[in-house]
Amino acid sequence: MDMVVEAGIIKQHLIDPEICIRCNTCEATCPVNAITHDDNNYVVRADVCNGCMACISPCPTGSIDNWRTMPLVRAYTIEEQLTWEELPAELSPEELEAAGVSGASAEAAEAPAQTQAQAAAEATEPVFNSAQYGASVPPWSAAHAYTNLFPPKTPTTATVVGNFNCTEAGFDSETHHIVLDFGVVPFPVLEGQSIGIVPPGVDAIGKRHHARQYSVASPRNGERPGYNNVSLTVKRVTEDHEGDPVRGVCSNYVCDLKVGDTVQVVGPFGSSFLMPNHPKSHIVMICTGTGSAPMRAMTEWRRRLRKSGKFEGGKLMLFFGARTQQELPYFGPLQSLPKDFIDINFAFSRTAGQPKRYVQDLMRERAADLAALLKDGASHFYVCGLKSMEEGVVLALCDVAKEAGLDWDTVGAALKREGRLHLETY
Ligand SMILES: Cc1cc2nc3c(=O)[nH]c(=O)nc-3n(C[C@H](O)[C@H](O)[C@H](O)COP(=O)(O)OP(=O)(O)OC[C@H]3O[C@@H](n4cnc5c(N)ncnc54)[C@H](O)[C@@H]3O)c2cc1C
Ligand code: SF4
Ligand code: SF4
Repeated sequence: MDMVVEAGIIKQHLIDPEICIRCNTCEATCPVNAITHDDNNYVVRADVCNGCMACISPCPTGSIDNWRTMPLVRAYTIEEQLTWEELPAELSPEELEAAGVSGASAEAAEAPAQTQAQAAAEATEPVFNSAQYGASVPPWSAAHAYTNLFPPKTPTTATVVGNFNCTEAGFDSETHHIVLDFGVVPFPVLEGQSIGIVPPGVDAIGKRHHARQYSVASPRNGERPGYNNVSLTVKRVTEDHEGDPVRGVCSNYVCDLKVGDTVQVVGPFGSSFLMPNHPKSHIVMICTGTGSAPMRAMTEWRRRLRKSGKFEGGKLMLFFGARTQQELPYFGPLQSLPKDFIDINFAFSRTAGQPKRYVQDLMRERAADLAALLKDGASHFYVCGLKSMEEGVVLALCDVAKEAGLDWDTVGAALKREGRLHLETY
């Protein structure tokens, strides 16, 4: 028996490309950066993953919970995994035997241990990692969320009952408010959850398009109360993250839908980015662009509760950023919400003749109010929008806490443990 191989057996951590909806949650969660992706697949680096399981429960689809017993020297490489369209089967006992792995040692295989490089990296000065503060549990008073009722292999159908541009018309950037009706199909959602839309057709290599995820913008009892419908806030992608022209497959499809069209929907997804329900809870919402969708859902639910006299008045505070006022979805309706109901702060980064302002600048300006909220265990913080905003926002919270004499390590850990700081950036 080859003892070198015997000593090098792992349970290799793999992601099922047929079920994964490419939501990026795992990559944002993994504390050791073991997960990476390209336009095709999300994959796990065998030599970095230490099997800590931090990514398992936040994954909305379960596609990340896959493990294969492998001789270490034959572990699937990143390059191999990126080309997969389905997971490879477990190696048979004969194949493992041929690779020098006995049945007993295959059963004893463990997830890979930390590599020396990783351990060395951790021994140096820790870098600020905003994702480590994001909670993977919901607030204690959140309602129960249903997830994965329609997994990627078995989508359901919804009918478009509304579609309008909710940014100012005539500008390059366009964001649509889409209303989908599920008829008699059960599709219960809560504020903060998302759904997947499967664009029709196939990609450049003839593979069925994977679903794109969109946050629900309507409250739990529907865009139109009492109807089985949800709304979405979808930005038309016309340039990629680098600013090069591109035609986003799904966002353009959704923005061009007509009333009466049908769409394939998967989900719902998400069981932690949920709002608190106890009446004295405070909600701080920090968002850019379409990150406003879950904030609209939460605000509207609180507005409906208040209207029906069922709310005792926890605070609502919103920090909302966009390049210009014209690009800001729902700008008009937001203006008409009563000031004693919601404290709204806008940041525009490209207004002609004005200095650039980002959401984190506004947060620092409102440090006194935010510090008071950070001291209050009934406060919940939600961050949603561009990936690039996340670190600045969490750093701003950290600085606000420190300036108020709070120990950020204690506050940050409590926010995470108690499901009171939620990050959803894409
Ligand atoms: C949890 C979650 C919630 C989301 N909620 C929303 C939402 O409420 N509203 C919404 O509009 N989108 C939302 N998204 C993003 C959405 O899922 C898609 O990524 C987006 O619509 C682009 O898909 P596409 O098929 O049009 O582009 P693709 O064809 O997939 O991509 C085309 C190119 O554009 C780049 N790209 C992808 N997304 C963007 C972007 N947003 N800006 C710039 N370049 C991009 C890609 O990297 C690629 O190079 C969410 C994503 C996640 C993970
Ligand atoms: S198990 Fe832990 S180390 Fe491995 S990919 Fe998941 S979060 Fe990262
Ligand atoms: S569906 Fe799961 S495995 Fe796929 S990107 Fe999202 S969290 Fe990761």
